[in-house]
Formats: sequence, structure tokens, C-alpha cells
Amino acid sequence: MNQMIIDGQKIDAANQQTLDVINPTTGQVFTTIPRGGAEDVDRAVKAARKALKGDWGKVPAFERGRLLMKLSRAVMDHQEELAQIEARDTGKPLSTARNDIAVLSRYFEFYAGGADKLHGDTIPFLNGYSVQTVHEPLGVTAHIIPWNYPAQMFGRSVAPALAMGNAAVVKPAEDACLSILRVAELALEVGFPAGALNIVTGLGEEAGAALSRHPGINFISFTGSNEVGVLIQQAAALNAVKCVLELGGKSAHVVFDDVNIDLAVPAIVRGIVHNTGQTCTAGSRLLLQKGVYDRFMQALADEFAKTRAGTPEMDLTCGPVINRKQMERVNRFIEKGRQEGLKVVAEGAVAEGVPAEGFFVTPTLFAAERHESELLCQEIFGPVLVVVPFETEAEAIELANATDYGLMGAVWTENGGRQQRVARSMEAGQVYINSFGAGGGVELPFGGVKRSGHGREKGFIALEEMSTIKTIVHHHGA
Ligand code: NAP
Ligand code: MG
Repeated sequence: MNQMIIDGQKIDAANQQTLDVINPTTGQVFTTIPRGGAEDVDRAVKAARKALKGDWGKVPAFERGRLLMKLSRAVMDHQEELAQIEARDTGKPLSTARNDIAVLSRYFEFYAGGADKLHGDTIPFLNGYSVQTVHEPLGVTAHIIPWNYPAQMFGRSVAPALAMGNAAVVKPAEDACLSILRVAELALEVGFPAGALNIVTGLGEEAGAALSRHPGINFISFTGSNEVGVLIQQAAALNAVKCVLELGGKSAHVVFDDVNIDLAVPAIVRGIVHNTGQTCTAGSRLLLQKGVYDRFMQALADEFAKTRAGTPEMDLTCGPVINRKQMERVNRFIEKGRQEGLKVVAEGAVAEGVPAEGFFVTPTLFAAERHESELLCQEIFGPVLVVVPFETEAEAIELANATDYGLMGAVWTENGGRQQRVARSMEAGQVYINSFGAGGGVELPFGGVKRSGHGREKGFIALEEMSTIKTIVHHHGA
């Protein structure tokens, strides 16, 4: 049984209700979390406001950086404990969970260094005037976190907010919030004042909705589905606050005839099966030029067939998916692909000996003749890759951009001009050339275009997203 963290205290939900937490590897309940609601959200927002007016608001920028650095170290000191928590909560292979915790630590480290480095300007103006700009915190920032990378997403969203002096209220996903609760405890231990960081657990439609609509918040950072993203933007409009939305994708690899096959194949397979495909930047479409089609497809199928889903302890390619609903959704897409007549080119396997009640799915590689299937338009969020042939560069660009999403893309070719042309033409927030970097890369500005959302997280730019500029105009006479 776990508790929320509000105003520096570990507490139950005001209504005393709890939610069961299920281990996706076994399908069994193993603990509970508080079912927080509007009352708890209200307490958390008030605690955050109080912290801004009190202890937390007085901490100078360089001290905020030091606190973040201490938290970064505390996370690494507890890496194994946190990785075990994350693996049990999400089903990730243990080595993936360890890496996720290292990335979480890296977020705090990166933004620790940034806390005192976002400088304002002095602006030439009329004679007799001096003008300066000052970066100020937005105030109380709301963070709604998904279940796919709880620890990483928490760091990505919360670290820059705290670095800029905001006070945060976090609503993690009901399916995976345990690592976040533990890190929030560590934050208190290293010296963050009460109320600077508050965690309200509960259901999206209860605690999440109450947080996004609360009149006391000044900003919302949301990562998750498009459906909920629209609700979040509507809620933000109610209070006229800014929101950053990261809503997933349908990212394409574009592979040309002159591809380095040995380099591309493992990266492309990893880019879809890592985290069991539950990655917003998963490379879930592969556009393959006809001249290399057979050779590349053979190498891809061989690699794909080696993928194995297992328990965290088995530490194979991937684990189960997060919950029964997600397992059924992925299996529905696979069935749909077969019905549509897509060819199954290769399948990975679920390892022998996994618990029968676990939420395991079979990694599946499909070939389509045309870019027409539902599997090529919708985010599946599972280990399912669809390959489509193309002939010309122009055709490849058109197909790469033929979805509503625009999060990430990759181009694989040795031709320098083509690398640049395709990268520039892709409608995406990030494009990789001869590599594919789902996850990590805390330094790199990240976010979507089109229906993948708006605003940028990661990188230095997140400090600007999570602060506001005040322009001070001083008339002192010439
Ligand atoms: P989701 O509902 O959008 O969940 C994301 C977060 O929003 C969770 O913390 C969720 O809380 C919360 N939430 C849900 N309803 C809310 C509401 N009305 N107001 C405020 N917050 C709310 O996503 P999901 O249902 O878990 O997953 C469905 C699909 O979303 C996936 O298949 C995938 O395609 C996509 N997805 C994308 C990402 C990404 O990284 N872009 C991440 C996760 C999911 P609870 O979970 O506690 O209800
Ligand atoms: Mg959910």
C-alpha cells in the first residue's frame, strides 16, 4: 500500500479510497495506491502555491540547481531499488528499467546545470529608457504523466519546471506511479521544501481531470493519447493557461537502396520492440526502396524473429504490455492486419515460462503492398512494424508525411544530399539520419508537429517553455 505526497506529507486520499495496482508480468494485484480526487488535487495545488510564496519561492536559482543535483545523485544511489520498482510496475526488462532510472537521474543533472543559466536581455529602446527581460516561474505547474516511461517522463516534465522555480503537482498514470512516489520521497530527503513537488495518484478522469481544470494552476504538461490531449487543451483554455502536449506518433523510417544494412536493421528492430512498442517515438512504419527490398527484408526478418518477450528477470528484448486493455488493443491490430491481407513476414516469440496471466503479445513484422492499412495510420503502441515499398525519393517523402502525426522520423542512406533533403522535408519534431534515437537524449529539444502535439520538452528550450518573460521598462531620463 502506497501513499501520495502532498505538502511534504505522505497521505491517503481524502475519501480513503484506494486502487489496486496490477503487475503486468503476472496479471496479479500486488499493492494499492490512493484514489485521489478533486479534494486532494485542491490540497496539492494550495500546497504548491504556499511553497511558491514561502520557502521554495525564496530559493535562489543556483540553490535550486544544487537541490536538483542532489536529487540526481540520490536517484543513482537508489538506481537498483528504483529499477526493481519500475520493472514490477511496468513489466520492463530489468536492464531497460535500470537505463530508464539513469535517464531520470540525467534529467535532474541536466536541468540542475540549467537552473541559473537562462539569462534575460537588455534591449535598446528610446533615449532615457533601460529595458530588461527577466525569466520568471509560471507558478504552479501541472504534470500529467503516462505509464510507458513513468520515471523518465517524470524527469523530463518536472525537472525543468523545478529548475525554473515553479511548484509542481504531478498526476502519474494509475497503471504505473510507484517509481514517481519513491523519487518524490527522495526529493524531500535531499531538501526540497514541502509543497515544491506534490504527487496526487488516482484515475485520469478523476484526479487528472480535476488537476487540469483547477483554477489555481498556471501551466499543464501532458503526455498521452490524442483523445485525452484534446480534453487537456480544452481544460487549459478554461483557465487561459499554456499547455505542452506530447501525443504520440506514427514515425517512419525511410530506407534507400544505398542503406548500410548492418547499421540499420538492429536499430530499426530495436526502435519498434523496445519497451514492447509502447514508445511515442516508436518507428512503426518502414518505407523501403524497391532496389534493396528483398535483401533488406530478409535481414530485417531474421533480426525480428530473434525478438523475445519475457519477464523483467529474464531480461530479454521486451516485457509484457502495461495492462489487459492494451494487450487486447495490440492483438486487435495484429488480427486486423491479417484480415486486411497484410503478409506476416516474421514474428518474435513470447518466452517459455512466462506467467500465463501476464499481458504478453507477439512482436509482429508485416509487409503491405500499399500505404493503406489502418495499421499505418493509427498508433498501435505495441511491437508491430509494417513495411511498405516505394520507388522514388519524392514518393518516400509523401508517404512519410501521410499520417496525422508528426513526432519523429529517420532517413537511412549514404547520399549526403538526400540525407539533408529528406530530413528537411519530413513533418516531424525530430529526424534522425542513419540512426534512431527513441528515448534518452535529454539535451535534444523534443515534441511534435501536426496531431503529435505542440510545445517542446527536453533540452534547454524546456526551461523557456516552463517560465515566462517579464519585460521591465525603466524611464530614468537621458
Ligand atoms: P491516456 O488516457 O491519455 O493517459 C495518459 C495520462 O492522462 C495518464 O496519467 C492518465 O491517467 C491521464 N488521463 C486520462 N484521462 C484523463 C482526463 N480525462 N483528464 C486528465 N488526465 C487524464 O492514455 P492511455 O489510455 O493510458 O493509453 C491509450 C493510448 O494512448 C495508447 O494506446 C497510446 O496510443 C497512447 N499513449 C501515448 C503515450 C505517449 O507517450 N505519447 C503514452 C501513453 C499512451 P490514468 O492512466 O491514471 O487514467
Ligand atoms: Mg489509462
